[in-house]
Amino acid sequence: MPVANPDLQNAYEVLDRVWGYDEFRPLQAEAVSDVIAGRDSLVVLPTGGGKSLCYQVPAIVREGMAVVVSPLISLMKDQVDALTSNGVAAALVNSTQSDDQKRVTAQRIRSGEIRMLYMAPERLLTSRTLDFLTTVPISFFAIDEAHCVSNWGHDFRPEYRGLRVLKQRFPDASVHAFTATASERVRDDIVEQLGLKSPNVLVGNFDRPNLRYRMMQSNGKLQQIQTVIEQHRGESGIVYCITRKEVEQTAAALETIGITALPYHAGLDDVTRQANQEAFIQEKVDVIVATVAFGMGIDKSNVRFVIHAGMPKSIEHYQQESGRAGRDGLTADCVLIYSGGDVMTWKRILENGDRSNFDDAMGSVNAMADLCSGVRCRHAAIVSYFGQEYDVDNCNACDVCLGELETVDDPVTLAQKILSCVVRLQERFGVAYTVKVLTGAKDQKILSSGHDRLSTYSLLGDEPAAAVKMWIEQLISQDYLRRVGEYGTLALTPNGRDLLKRIGSVTLTRPPARAVRSRAGNSG
Ligand code: ADP
Repeated sequence: MPVANPDLQNAYEVLDRVWGYDEFRPLQAEAVSDVIAGRDSLVVLPTGGGKSLCYQVPAIVREGMAVVVSPLISLMKDQVDALTSNGVAAALVNSTQSDDQKRVTAQRIRSGEIRMLYMAPERLLTSRTLDFLTTVPISFFAIDEAHCVSNWGHDFRPEYRGLRVLKQRFPDASVHAFTATASERVRDDIVEQLGLKSPNVLVGNFDRPNLRYRMMQSNGKLQQIQTVIEQHRGESGIVYCITRKEVEQTAAALETIGITALPYHAGLDDVTRQANQEAFIQEKVDVIVATVAFGMGIDKSNVRFVIHAGMPKSIEHYQQESGRAGRDGLTADCVLIYSGGDVMTWKRILENGDRSNFDDAMGSVNAMADLCSGVRCRHAAIVSYFGQEYDVDNCNACDVCLGELETVDDPVTLAQKILSCVVRLQERFGVAYTVKVLTGAKDQKILSSGHDRLSTYSLLGDEPAAAVKMWIEQLISQDYLRRVGEYGTLALTPNGRDLLKRIGSVTLTRPPARAVRSRAGNSG
């Protein structure tokens, strides 16, 4: 293809000669231009968007050696093998290699033969490696999975923080960060943490129009999972669970209803885990039940459904995990089954982890919960979370736009009841307490505070507490209520005050009718 920029002309030539492709995908040409021009950059492209070529092509076009930083040894090996078989001199250094192998690689680097060197950050950052690399002409650094540098991303790795020294130690080399998932906050953090200089930030389109999103409250979860799997008999799918124990239980429960599914989580021994993964990839088994540990670096294009049997801990995670469905571009189903308890589960897990990050991590959990209980088009909600516009009126590919949510008949009146209860409680109580007052619970604290004498006490006494809780969450996600402060006390937003005066409109949904379950057998 004729192009004005001679460097890009070279890039097209390489793309064709080495890979046999004749077009760049969206944003690849821009990303390649930045790398060739030596301008720092951050490239955010969804999984499958073609990030690797954005640095592999320039590594061949530019003089000197490119260094690629990647967290996963298996991924590095795949890339180096693929490059080598395409006739590109690429190498990797890792801890499994012998001293002899390392010596040979160092020699090939010194002689200027190697175009691309792959390394994990902890190896790159040893003073020995850094000292060695300063003696070699380095063209640029490509940092893969760059969200790992951010506390706010979904996979923070402390060793990534050290990559900041690259700009200091190699002032002439440009640094290029790549990631599949980054909210604006994470994006800013990557630029900051890596010390990128006036970077060009390129963000690809995050919408996955072929994914059909459905989010439903847990209601006979096993049956809900079974329904989805049965709609996809003979097709590949992943069931994600929050904990290892849930993985085991779910796989076993599916077995009892005649669905063969293999478990995958970090607690299994390496051999079993590897074997289960292979069985799934080679389609010896259709369904894999897994924790988030499953999927990184797995390139299986025909996954037809992803079920979340519990809520993921952030929208970033959800995007990444649901994004493993339908990579071939054909329709795929993403079904998320959530319950109020999921937020508490995450809270408990996070409390036992690295506390320094707790508030941010809980913020991500709550954003995910708001997405679940929200009634806005799922495509629009996800895409706008990643800072992008979504201007499709009806996506025809989510439960909201497909009209599958059962809505409440007179939502404004229902919302008014809830909002006025929050006002009567002087905006000093959280969700759980407000639910108790509205449903008329005879809680000791309510009685001793005299809240049983409020006009809104027991105003929704006929409704299940879970439904009232969900409506409050829906009012939060539609910006009529907000959580304030450390205790998440409920307060009205300006829209909420308007709605109390019947100005504005709101959508509230009913929980799904309870799935029919055999009471005689084992449940869940
Ligand atoms: P990512 O890292 O963004 O998930 P990859 O770099 O693994 O994506 O690319 C996904 C697939 O798309 C690979 O098989 C790759 O060879 C292919 N690909 C990338 N760019 C192009 C292109 N311009 N034309 C055709 N195929 C491409």
